[in-house]
Amino acid sequence: MSGFQSDIERKVLAGERLTGEDAVALLKSHDLNFLAALADWKRKQVTDPARVTYNIGRNINYTNVCWVRCKFCAFYRKPGDDEGYVLPVETVLEKCGELVRAGGREVLLQGGLHPKLKIEWYEDLLRAMKAAWPVDIHGFSSTEINYIAHISRLSLEETLRRLRDAGLDSIPGAAEMIVDSVRDAIAPFKEKSERWTELMRTAHRLGIPTTATMMYGSVDTIEDRVEHMLRVRALQDETGGFKAFIPWSFAPEGTELQAELGPGWKPATSFDYLRIAAVARLVLDNIPHIQASWVTQGPRIAQIALKFGVDDFGSTMMEENVVSSTGVSFLMPIAEIQRIIRDAGYVPQLRDTQYRPLPDPPDEAVLLDPQLLKIQPPVERA
Ligand code: SF4
Repeated sequence: MSGFQSDIERKVLAGERLTGEDAVALLKSHDLNFLAALADWKRKQVTDPARVTYNIGRNINYTNVCWVRCKFCAFYRKPGDDEGYVLPVETVLEKCGELVRAGGREVLLQGGLHPKLKIEWYEDLLRAMKAAWPVDIHGFSSTEINYIAHISRLSLEETLRRLRDAGLDSIPGAAEMIVDSVRDAIAPFKEKSERWTELMRTAHRLGIPTTATMMYGSVDTIEDRVEHMLRVRALQDETGGFKAFIPWSFAPEGTELQAELGPGWKPATSFDYLRIAAVARLVLDNIPHIQASWVTQGPRIAQIALKFGVDDFGSTMMEENVVSSTGVSFLMPIAEIQRIIRDAGYVPQLRDTQYRPLPDPPDEAVLLDPQLLKIQPPVERA
């Protein structure tokens, strides 16, 4: 073991906080065994060592119309585009019903920044979903919420309060990276880091829990990744509102950024992912759950990540349109998630959006109707 490794090991075992320099050194290390052992030890201290949680959920992408044109996104269609759509409320409710009948309850509600949808449209949608089905609504990126506030001429706090009161249970903290130089390069029209932080802070204050994500592997450096994690950690010290951290790698196919990066750019590797998962567990000592991203890494690497500090396998993803627009598409039946977790030596534990344990799904849910796994075509022009 090298000098820096024994120093970091001592700190972790003593419960001392790792510094940014420690994190950079670990992310540059090639000693995966060391990282796995340390991250797994830490994971066992802070979560149930015998169980890996998962969730039965589906994405509902209520619209793909968006004017923001993030360079890493292949999902959006510009306003006026023939392929733009907004799902009617009835279609959203049908999708919720399919999920509930399949034993699930988490709806990840995501769309684009549609210039004609103001807060009343969102409130009606959330209320209709809650009235029709017992679903947990995990919805809207910070960019969507900022835009709803903007076009509805409301403060951030009032917007969040109204969305919460209409039924929004939690927010996916889709952050890409809270480093403005990276944001400027990959999503120049999105809100800056400070605004993302302010939105998360306000949501937590209003009792709306969130996750925090990190999309890495585009133009970011190792130092950027560490800066992002340290900012999330600092905010968590302040609010305690982050339930989980979810790192995932940039998928270039079909994005504007792919052409911009050019042939010299190389995608992040599985080594990168495992290092990041382990370092997230070690650095984010105040966030209880680290979630695997099997949608971007594939189920096998996600399974291995269970030995790198990850304690949650995410959602079954009955429908996923955003990442799959880039050509990445893994949709997994519940039985397969359970098999992967058991094969790694853990007990699969169904959970809700707040990470509270739920009873095992009914048998009918184990074999999902393949029809439910099909990505639905858009049904209404924007
Ligand atoms: S990532 Fe979100 S905000 Fe950016 S273009 Fe895609 S849909 Fe729009």
